[in-house]
Amino acid sequence: MSQSFDVAVIGAGPGGYVAAIRCAQLGLNTVCIDEWKNPQGKASLGGTCLNVGCIPSKALLESSENYERAAHKFAAHGIKVEGLSVDVPTMMSRKDKIVAAFTGGVAMLLKKNKVTSMNGRGSLLKSSKYDDGNTLWQIEVKNGDKVDTVEAKHIIIATGSTPRQLPFAPVDNERILDNAGALALTETPKRLGVIGAGVIGLEMGSVWRRLGSEVTILEALPGFLMAADEQVAKEAKKIFAKETGLVIQTGIKISGIKTGEAITVEYADTEGKTQQLEIDKLIVAVGRVPNTTGLGAENVGLKMDGRGYIEVDSHCRTNLPNIYAVGDVVRGPMLAHKASEEGVAVAETIAGQAGHVNLDTIPWVIYTSPEIAWVGKTEQELKTAGIQYKAGQFPFMANGRARALGETGGFVKVLADADTDRILGIHMIGPYVSEMIAEAVVAMEFAASSEDIARIVHAHPSLSEVLHEAALGVDKRAIHI
Ligand code: FAD
Repeated sequence: MSQSFDVAVIGAGPGGYVAAIRCAQLGLNTVCIDEWKNPQGKASLGGTCLNVGCIPSKALLESSENYERAAHKFAAHGIKVEGLSVDVPTMMSRKDKIVAAFTGGVAMLLKKNKVTSMNGRGSLLKSSKYDDGNTLWQIEVKNGDKVDTVEAKHIIIATGSTPRQLPFAPVDNERILDNAGALALTETPKRLGVIGAGVIGLEMGSVWRRLGSEVTILEALPGFLMAADEQVAKEAKKIFAKETGLVIQTGIKISGIKTGEAITVEYADTEGKTQQLEIDKLIVAVGRVPNTTGLGAENVGLKMDGRGYIEVDSHCRTNLPNIYAVGDVVRGPMLAHKASEEGVAVAETIAGQAGHVNLDTIPWVIYTSPEIAWVGKTEQELKTAGIQYKAGQFPFMANGRARALGETGGFVKVLADADTDRILGIHMIGPYVSEMIAEAVVAMEFAASSEDIARIVHAHPSLSEVLHEAALGVDKRAIHI
């Protein structure tokens, strides 16, 4: 006899577990099914983000940044450090404790909200129509030899994504690593190669560069950070090369990888010349693919788009009645906060409310040093769309707080409609812009003009004054430049 629920959520990453909690808050009897197991073989909720993504990467970025400060930046403050060294196992165990606290926290939150939690792989089996007209979906939950079935009126699929594989660079997580392997190294490799200069490649490369690796990042695309505003990308490349020591080569084409004593990556550079890169470890970070393996989509006729994502409309509805999909497994940016907000919106839609996510105001953040963050349109997107705009820009160099921090690289740029002054995009590169971007998102969500930000009082001395001055700069009235 299978258990019956109002809602079954498949996947307990930031999309799934947040959806499950919101469903339960709204009085829906909810089960959350997730198959993740930690290296010790225990169920570990929170998906990619908590186990091998956002949280462990930020823990290591913070640790490595502290080392970098002590090694290279404290001296300018008159602080002398002698005998500095890195203890990678301690760094990793700190990271593991942070991860365990959060994955355990998700289990507690589900329990507190009376969400039934099941460990195992969920597969869609079939639907049955009952006399009362209700359709119930059946899901099989398989954990080793144990097989259960559950029934639910509504299903939320939140099965996330997995790293994209390169056939010529098979990941063994010993020498050729994906994100999980790159977050679990027990010592600093002397020479590290990274394939892919996207967010994950840059963040992982930054961690190990700061801890002493010689890092070379190889990118197939002709440009650097092509999703970001061109000016921000240019500034980032300049600072990364000059200050952080990351070597980034774009427009390359890999022809082969040999693993002997060293790993040798053979590639053609932008001029077509054959180059060889010898490294000790290689991270493959060439994007992620939606995860629908073993989901049973074919059993029920769940429709995918041409790229393997589950096809959904703007309310995350699939082609099947009462089946929704959220997060990395559907279109839109592969970001944890986007997954969570879609989870909340779907839960509210199921409960008869008006759930909605505005994909135009999703903030993007890259936690390199300096950090990069943006929301809305880039200058190149506005130009392509033929939209007339005004731009205001202000550098961190002219900000008191940034000077006190000793982090003066970068700027904030505000783009506003030439006629209405409505903000169309805000782009940042500089210290703690991951925090500063929240003001920009609120402004855009409330359809603010650059004049609105320009008229708001910002605390002094604070980094937020850089955004204030950039907004003033839209009408050429910045004060401190
Ligand atoms: P996931 O988190 O992938 O969770 C899906 C869950 O479903 C997993 O637990 C999986 O085991 C489970 N599952 C899959 N199929 C089944 C099935 N059939 N049955 C049962 N369970 C199943 N995003 C940010 O916003 N900020 C960051 O700083 C950031 N840093 C990142 C750093 C790294 C190194 C990586 C790899 C990613 C990072 N991301 C970041 C992206 C972020 O992790 C994802 O966007 C987010 O986890 C997506 O959430 P999700 O719920 O859609 O899927």
